[in-house]
Amino acid sequence: MAQILDGNALSRRILAEVKAEAVEKRLDPGLAVIIVGDNPASRVYVDNKKKDCKKCGIRSEEFTLAVDAGEEKLLALIEELNNRPDIHGILVQLPLPPGYSQDKVIQSISPQKDVDAFHLFNVGRIFTGDYGFLPCTPAGVLRLLDEQGIELQGKHCVVVGHSNIVGKPMAMMFLNRNATVTICHVHTKDLKAQTLQADVLVVAVGKIGLITADMVKPGAVVVDVGINRTDSGICGDVDFEAVEKIAAYISPVPGGVGPMTRAMLMVNTLTAIKNLEGL
Ligand code: NAD
Repeated sequence: MAQILDGNALSRRILAEVKAEAVEKRLDPGLAVIIVGDNPASRVYVDNKKKDCKKCGIRSEEFTLAVDAGEEKLLALIEELNNRPDIHGILVQLPLPPGYSQDKVIQSISPQKDVDAFHLFNVGRIFTGDYGFLPCTPAGVLRLLDEQGIELQGKHCVVVGHSNIVGKPMAMMFLNRNATVTICHVHTKDLKAQTLQADVLVVAVGKIGLITADMVKPGAVVVDVGINRTDSGICGDVDFEAVEKIAAYISPVPGGVGPMTRAMLMVNTLTAIKNLEGL
């Protein structure tokens, strides 16, 4: 039976560590969270982020703009927050409503306050391995693996999914750890042939049951990033019950990568204040 990569337990510890370090260094980190419109899923995400901030002593300030506030108003708000010394992290909840250029908005955030690590400057740093901020989801996956002492150098890491926020940065982070990396996506011809090679398999697609037990090498480490909503709650992309029987490690959904993603946002906000204050 696989060992469970428990994101709930680890994320609780990380939040406690963030709080302890802020107290010890007498830091007062501030995170600005901007939400445009009234997308119910975005509302839940923003509320969760505010709760996490509370747990680890980070000041959160929410800025709510009406769906028709317009891009100029949003850009002006970001400019104001870029210049506020008591705000160290700025996060714009995505997706933005139609009529807003997501790219323009993200590029307007100061790279020093870009705690999602979506600004091109921070994306470039992922490429060189000279990290400023790491995008929260792949950073959370890496931390889950590191916590178990799972060695990556020389391992074959297969990443299924090639989005800009999960798959691509994940692959680059594995490469920076000297793993051999394969990236698969919707156009990959024989997915099973690729996943069977994986010592470490990370799946970030959003398709229930995509990865079945016959696609996993016995003894592999399997990390399920996928979130799929069903009538009975959320589940991942991996057939957990079957794969658990053959993998060495597996992350559950819920309780795996999700809470780690949230925790890494708090880590990035602490990193932001430390960098801005030259610590
Ligand atoms: P995305 O939609 O941007 O990308 C999906 C990727 O899956 C693409 O690269 C696509 O080519 C690939 N894909 C689609 N069908 C495929 C198939 N049949 N075989 C192989 N690859 C296929 O998604 P994303 O934003 O990267 O998110 C992926 C999943 O991870 C979603 O379920 C999302 O909800 C979840 N997610 C979870 C967290 C978390 O904190 N746990 C964070 C971000 C995303």
